[in-house]
Amino acid sequence: MARVSGFQLVIRHKALECIGCCLCEETAPQYFRMDEDGMAQLEGGQSEGVFNRAVGLKVDREELEAAAEGCPVDIIRISAS
Ligand code: SF4
Repeated sequence: MARVSGFQLVIRHKALECIGCCLCEETAPQYFRMDEDGMAQLEGGQSEGVFNRAVGLKVDREELEAAAEGCPVDIIRISAS
């Protein structure tokens, strides 16, 4: 698992519950992209239980938190570790 530095955040995304609204891709396109089935995928995400997990930069916190807060099914988590 990738180590997290003081400049980084952890993003978790429960891809199986995505309803494909596109908000996260529009809000934080450097981290989320819609796949060929129209569902969001976390770029570089690695499986961690029911979540995919990836590391993001703290300078992108505002976009990431907007994506997490805007997700209609509440399946994006942003944390320090
Ligand atoms: S905002 Fe949530 S429901 Fe919408 S595409 Fe992203 S993960 Fe899926």
